[in-house]
Amino acid sequence: MERWDALVIGGGFYGLYLAETLAARLPRVLLCERGPELMGRASYANQARVHNGYHYPRSVLTAVRSRANFPRFADEFRPAVRSDFDKLYAVARRDSKVTAAQFVAAMRRVGAPIDRAEPAERKLFDPALIEDVFRVTEFAFDSSELKRLMAERVRRAGVTVRLNTAVERVGPLPGGAVRVRLADGEVHAGMVVGCGYANTNAVGAASGLPVVPLKHELTEMALVEVPAAVRDIGVTVMDGPFFSCMPFPPRGLHTLSHVRYTPHGHWYDGLPGEGYLPADEVFAAAEKRTAFPHMVRDAARYMPALSGCEYRGSLWEVKTVLPRSESDDSRPILFRPDHGLPNYHVVLGGKIDNVYDVADELARHLGWTTSTPAREAA
Ligand SMILES: Cc1cc2nc3c(=O)[nH]c(=O)nc-3n(C[C@H](O)[C@H](O)[C@H](O)COP(=O)(O)OP(=O)(O)OC[C@H]3O[C@@H](n4cnc5c(N)ncnc54)[C@H](O)[C@@H]3O)c2cc1C
Repeated sequence: MERWDALVIGGGFYGLYLAETLAARLPRVLLCERGPELMGRASYANQARVHNGYHYPRSVLTAVRSRANFPRFADEFRPAVRSDFDKLYAVARRDSKVTAAQFVAAMRRVGAPIDRAEPAERKLFDPALIEDVFRVTEFAFDSSELKRLMAERVRRAGVTVRLNTAVERVGPLPGGAVRVRLADGEVHAGMVVGCGYANTNAVGAASGLPVVPLKHELTEMALVEVPAAVRDIGVTVMDGPFFSCMPFPPRGLHTLSHVRYTPHGHWYDGLPGEGYLPADEVFAAAEKRTAFPHMVRDAARYMPALSGCEYRGSLWEVKTVLPRSESDDSRPILFRPDHGLPNYHVVLGGKIDNVYDVADELARHLGWTTSTPAREAA
């Protein structure tokens, strides 16, 4: 019987980062990814935004955590971070949950740099629909480069990575270790950390453990070639049923996403009367017909140059958040230690930079003074 000190479920950014964190203290760490590659799911198919608070004028805590994690992420993953574009946030006149003045006040409160945009930048927007435009400090990450960096880091940390290896079930062993059923056999682990994101509940549900309440959305982001006038710009219109157009570095394109048209449906795990649906089965069975024409038509009302976007395809993914994020669009982390089983810990970050908060929680739970012993020692 193989014995591991820790087994991490999922080879997304979270699984990789936490596996490296664990391997700084534990000699035998195994990471199981059921897909054929690392970071091939949500850690690839996302908007690539390194958040710096601007997205969360209605959630001070999320904005403050973004502000704290932004410089750390930008510094630690510098080769994967793109800052060579201008970032504009515009506030819509109608249907926005904040006014321009409220947006500025919220950002000043959390110390996020914000200036009125230059006249040439403001001209890109229809003043009848946009109240004001701001220039902010926000970056994009290149998930391909992030994957390269993390694959190298876990290799150096001595983590054993197994691709095409699904974790199916977990169960108790005498002495507190965890029995782990893999698609191709069984191993024992001192602890298991579940980083399955959309599939957070899959292993627990198959093992008879409690289902974590989650909201899932089937999402589409259009990949577009933008017109020259907006090529070096990222745009977000706040704060309601509007859109974002962000650089997507791995493809040299932009993503166009729209609060109304990006979600193609949603469902819940674990709420009263909702039960549990396997996210990947819902994802595989869903019809994926692009809503790009709706997205671009609406976005071009606010920013006419976007009517020249050329459609190059879509990124489809399941986006998973905690149900309470619905009211204020916040991104609290989920950390469920000993989730129905001693030493079976379940985590979910909600956005890339929250990984620091999750790693700190895990370290605290394990009685470690810091989540970054290897880096501090260096
Ligand atoms: C449309 C969209 C836009 C987003 N935009 C942003 C953004 O701009 N900025 C930001 O910071 N965040 C954004 N996010 C959120 C961000 O993508 C996620 O927080 C992050 O990628 C989660 O990383 P992860 O490792 O938890 O998940 P994933 O990258 O999905 O990794 C989970 C892995 O676990 C594997 N797995 C699942 N179950 C098992 C099992 N039983 N056995 C083995 N392997 C398993 C899966 O195959 C997968 O590879 C966005 C997400 C979406 C969907």
